[in-house]
Amino acid sequence: MHSGTTANGPCLACYTPTDTGLAVEADQLGLIQALKRLTVPEGTARIMAGRFLGDLPVPPRAIGLRVCRPCAEAAGASVDLMVNGSPVPVYDFTD
Ligand SMILES: [Zn+2]
Repeated sequence: MHSGTTANGPCLACYTPTDTGLAVEADQLGLIQALKRLTVPEGTARIMAGRFLGDLPVPPRAIGLRVCRPCAEAAGASVDLMVNGSPVPVYDFTD
């Protein structure tokens, strides 16, 4: 059953329901790097990257990630409210 109306969803790192998120501008490797920074285990990060971007290399693109505030702050990032699945701040985790 999908309600489609709530802005809440599970944080991708700790699964706590949250209405916040951030965006990364990344290709597969950059996204895996960002997810690992957000404490997602590497194997899970690879699966997620494939789900977001497919298995073939793609140019970097903006990807919205649902992340709660504590997880984002632990990774040195901040979050904003997700609006229609599209968070505002874009972080570069690749440095
Ligand atoms: Zn979290």
